Amino acid sequence: MSPPADAPRATSSVELTTEQIGPLVDDAVVWANQHGLLVALKDPKFVNPEYAVIHAPLSLTPVPFPRERFELAQKVQPLFNSLVDAVAADEPYLEAVLRPAAQHDEFTARLLRVLSDTRGARAALRAAGSEVALGIHRSDYMLDAPSGKFLQVELNTIASSFGCLSALTTRLHGYLGLRMEGLDASSLPPNPSLEALPDALAAAAAASGHMGPGRGGVVVMVVQPGERNAYDQQWLQLQLWERHRLRTLRMTLADIARTARLDPGTGSTAVLAGGQPVACFYFRAGYTPNDYPSDAEWAGRELVERSNAAKCPTVAYQLAGTKKVQQDLARPGSLERFVPDPRDAALLREFFAGLWSLDPADVAADVGGAAGAVRQALEHPEAFVLKPQREGGGNNLYDEELRQRLREGGEGLSAFILMQRILPPTNQSVLVRNGQWQQSDTLSELGIYGTFVRHNDKVLVNQQAGHLVRTKTASSNEGGVAAGFAVLDSPFLV
Ligand code: ADP
Ligand code: MG
Ligand code: MG
Repeated sequence: MSPPADAPRATSSVELTTEQIGPLVDDAVVWANQHGLLVALKDPKFVNPEYAVIHAPLSLTPVPFPRERFELAQKVQPLFNSLVDAVAADEPYLEAVLRPAAQHDEFTARLLRVLSDTRGARAALRAAGSEVALGIHRSDYMLDAPSGKFLQVELNTIASSFGCLSALTTRLHGYLGLRMEGLDASSLPPNPSLEALPDALAAAAAASGHMGPGRGGVVVMVVQPGERNAYDQQWLQLQLWERHRLRTLRMTLADIARTARLDPGTGSTAVLAGGQPVACFYFRAGYTPNDYPSDAEWAGRELVERSNAAKCPTVAYQLAGTKKVQQDLARPGSLERFVPDPRDAALLREFFAGLWSLDPADVAADVGGAAGAVRQALEHPEAFVLKPQREGGGNNLYDEELRQRLREGGEGLSAFILMQRILPPTNQSVLVRNGQWQQSDTLSELGIYGTFVRHNDKVLVNQQAGHLVRTKTASSNEGGVAAGFAVLDSPFLV
């Protein structure tokens, strides 16, 4: 669905004629190829498809955002980082909120089981002073045209991707801006994710105690087999080496299950075949049930959770980032339990969209106005989004499908949440995919990265760590770049 015709139209950052666009697209694609703004192509036509690459899907010009709102979203990120940590620490809360969803969602149920099965091991880690939690989060927003506010779409606590490619996109727009009239490069905010994300990983790895001369610790990046977005990940690996002399190994959950063991000596150090200790497990997989085709992958996940390596994320962090928890925190009084300063809680709430539980018991009791919201959604499904407990794009229900699912009813709705549909302003963008461009009416989503490192009770890192803008055609409901809906973009502050 497109926003209503009377929704405000933001002006584009620059007006371009067709004659101007062609050469600029050429420059943009060449720059992207030269600077590693790439995705894997996996085209079997190539002699070795493993090494075939193409420029990442991108927007030719940055997208205008109000400076004041953008800066507020940056400012609030450390509060979201702390919120995730506080929610994750309250395991009875996680279990209470997620139990009804888990009854109808096996994936949530399995994650909760890992949480409870590892409780003893994790308490022992804490007692030994070797609990290291690493958050590399991305809080996603859309500008809500009616209120002028950024409203949070979701908060990703696992496998938040595109941090490195987004920093390169900022640089690309800086370069192109020098060639376009009307684009003042000083209006492109600095994007430190290419440094801030590896630095957080390195800080967590160091806190684990497995790094340093003679210790031989490595970072294990947990990946999906056949990942197309491998170059974003490879940038992190390169930066870890160049900035910190840290070595990264790429392993799937199945590889971990097969080759990693907990050292019988310590009982908690994860060692790889060959005896190498793991300083940090960083997940770029494990967020979807598809990543766990058998019990072996779950065994791999559990081994990680029991280990004294730093984890990004812990199972509790992953659960704290679920849609169901996002919805529960929006309930009156719920967020406030986790945020000591009421002014901070009020600031966080500035970013909350309308969110309602669909658990039939909550709807019957009208918790947080759920009954009225369901009635409205049946009448005006276009004003809502129906979300299951899933990550990775392409899972939500909209419009008629949303109405159908609500009509169907049943206990299974406990594993869904109902959300206010955010209506962002449309822009004109030039979208470049596979070297070809297309001019479209578009909508954009802003992501702010946050990094957080906690070693037992000591918070070592808590900061805003750069940003991502993804732009999609206004007619598309979903917005993932990896899922093929959107392109990489950057903000232009007005
Ligand atoms: P996922 O974890 O799969 O990325 P999201 O909550 O981010 O789930 O939803 C996927 C996409 O759906 C978003 O990128 C956005 O384009 C669209 N979307 C999600 N929630 C809303 C909303 N409340 N209003 C408008 N669009 C939304
Ligand atoms: Mg997500
Ligand atoms: Mg998302």
